[in-house]
Amino acid sequence: MQIHFNDLFSQYRELQVEIDAAIKKTIENSDFVRGDEINRFEKAFSSKTGSLNCISCANGTDALRIAMYALGMPPESEVIVPAHTWISTAAMVTEAGGVPVFCDTMENDFIINHELIADLITPKTVGIIPVHLYGQPSDMVNIMNIAKKFGLWVIEDCAQAHFAKIKDKQVGQFGHAATYSFYPGKNLGAMGDGGAITTNDPEIAIKMRRFANHGGLVKGEHLIQGINSRLDTIQAAILRIKLSSVDEWHEKRRSVASLYSKALNGLCEIILPCERPGTSHAWHLYVIKTKRREALREYLSENGIPTLVNYPTALPLLPCFPETNMQHRLFQKAYANQDKILSLPMHPYLTVEMTQYITNHIHQFFEKE
Ligand SMILES: *Cc1c(COP(=O)(O)O)cnc(C)c1O
Repeated sequence: MQIHFNDLFSQYRELQVEIDAAIKKTIENSDFVRGDEINRFEKAFSSKTGSLNCISCANGTDALRIAMYALGMPPESEVIVPAHTWISTAAMVTEAGGVPVFCDTMENDFIINHELIADLITPKTVGIIPVHLYGQPSDMVNIMNIAKKFGLWVIEDCAQAHFAKIKDKQVGQFGHAATYSFYPGKNLGAMGDGGAITTNDPEIAIKMRRFANHGGLVKGEHLIQGINSRLDTIQAAILRIKLSSVDEWHEKRRSVASLYSKALNGLCEIILPCERPGTSHAWHLYVIKTKRREALREYLSENGIPTLVNYPTALPLLPCFPETNMQHRLFQKAYANQDKILSLPMHPYLTVEMTQYITNHIHQFFEKE
């Protein structure tokens, strides 16, 4: 049986006619930068996320950088970020002139532990960037209460959680801005790089547009020194087509997760990911935990089942963050999780037979001892 970790080819096959036509049309119009497709995608994405403004940009990393510029980063500002996430979240704080302050994550939910945030706040703290890691919504109600109390901004990093919800409200609608990545493997992915920021504040939106576009809204205007971060027009056309299928893909991911959880429930050697009460998980990744991760990973690989580790090292322990490096005791959960987490294949094209094949092999691995 052929199992892919993610299956972008099947996704292409599903929408091939529309995608090919959209690419052709963009090329024939020589519409490579900006243009109508960009406006149409931004409108479609803001309406789908329930946001008043969408600013497209080159990738999810730039989206963080642009959002931080617009929300304010005086020199040496401190920004609180989770200790275990994709590198961009923290590296962009440094890039924006600030200092990332790491907060430990939750043992089984993987998201930032909001109870630890208040103790990390100093007079230099300007913001918090919760990450809805693997598609699991962070505790936005509590985080927004803390932010309000201390006068901080909040950027929700939604790169892994397109259309996840807390009660009936989508993630990205709690903070002052939300950032998205359309990296091909994300729940809504382009055929190359792409990103966006959403915000309900019109002034912040204009600041973001200026910063991402050489400091001006129109050609020749340079009110500030900005950067050049654009979504390619071809990618916008592709994304707008894919946007109409994301609800269906979301449901399929949810059913794969539920098949996994049903089949693996009761296996005491592994801890299963869970959906926090009152939330709807986007299941970008289905991440189990086991002390025997490396051996299980090898066994699955021998049987044609690809897995990943997202991410092998908690950020404070990486050599690129020297000030915080090696302080294991401060990031106990993140540090404990990094050696146990294992991401199983996750995409909308996994069939019942495929998930059974995967879960049967996990059972066999633990039974063969
Ligand atoms: C993918 C990702 C990003 C960065 O997105 P790119 O488009 O790859 O730059 C940022 N944060 C998180 C949590 C991500 O998963």
